Amino acid sequence: MAGPRVVIIGAGVVGAALADEISARGWTEVIVVDQGPLPATGGSSSHAPGLVFQTNSSKTMTELARYTVEKFCSLDVDGKPCFLQVGGLEVATTPERLTELHRRHGWITAWGIESRLLSAEECVEKHPLVDRDKILGGLLVPTDGLAKAVLAVEAQIRRATERGVRFLARHEVLDVLKADGGVTGVLTDQGEIAADIVVCCAGIWGPKIARMVGMNLPLTPLAHQLAWTGPVPALVGQTEEAVRPILRHQDADLYYRDRFDTLGIGYYGHRPMPITADDI
Ligand SMILES: Cc1cc2nc3c(=O)[nH]c(=O)nc-3n(C[C@H](O)[C@H](O)[C@H](O)COP(=O)(O)OP(=O)(O)OC[C@H]3O[C@@H](n4cnc5c(N)ncnc54)[C@H](O)[C@@H]3O)c2cc1C
Repeated sequence: MAGPRVVIIGAGVVGAALADEISARGWTEVIVVDQGPLPATGGSSSHAPGLVFQTNSSKTMTELARYTVEKFCSLDVDGKPCFLQVGGLEVATTPERLTELHRRHGWITAWGIESRLLSAEECVEKHPLVDRDKILGGLLVPTDGLAKAVLAVEAQIRRATERGVRFLARHEVLDVLKADGGVTGVLTDQGEIAADIVVCCAGIWGPKIARMVGMNLPLTPLAHQLAWTGPVPALVGQTEEAVRPILRHQDADLYYRDRFDTLGIGYYGHRPMPITADDI
């Protein structure tokens, strides 16, 4: 037996990464269960447009993001890349935001990642849909980009499977089994699975799993608006999936990515829309 018996609940981008990482370190008595089909389980990872910005005030978070970028750049599924390294651009429309971008440039430089402060003209050169008259400048991180989350899940499933990890689709965990103050496995709708360690990678369903062991997980899922446009005249004829840097306009709570001749636009400025894990 290689390592303890581990059950991972959830095969989204987090559960698949955990299976890959621990199996790479020699733990191969690992079973990953998911209530959905694989690799597109229907969880958050199946819906995300995949923007990865590495800049963070926390060095640890930046290092995690950098590790993810480097790892996803090294993965493919039958030749299809798991990361599109188009760069990341944050723009400023106010002097205060421009000052903030200078501060962020300082952090990320200190954390060892290349970035450049751009003039308004340079921002428009990088992303021609940006309005020169509205912005004061921007911060470009050339190694940011787009994770292809479902492909990254599939690539990590394949790699972990080669090391002996088992992935069980359409297995819903109904309970976590316990004895003598510890876990002994999980009960799924397909039967019981014994385990020494049970890891919850259930994302927005985390509070439901936590309740199975008597824990109150302080996590509230929030509905998030993401829109895909129809063809945008300025993008018509674009044959590559994404060529422009991913774009953030933080003062308006907006982010953008291109996808062939359309745009994905995410927005956080609406009223908060909390939902409960049981309703999803
Ligand atoms: C519209 C949208 C846009 C987003 N945009 C971005 C973005 O641009 N950049 C970014 O970094 N992040 C983005 N996110 C967030 C990102 O997608 C999530 O943070 C990430 O996918 C979470 O991964 P996860 O593995 O934790 O969760 P999930 O992918 O949800 O995986 C959890 C898994 O657990 C399984 N599960 C749950 N309960 C059980 C059970 N009882 N039994 C068995 N299986 C169970 C589910 O089926 C699911 O597959 C976005 C999310 C959404 C929804």
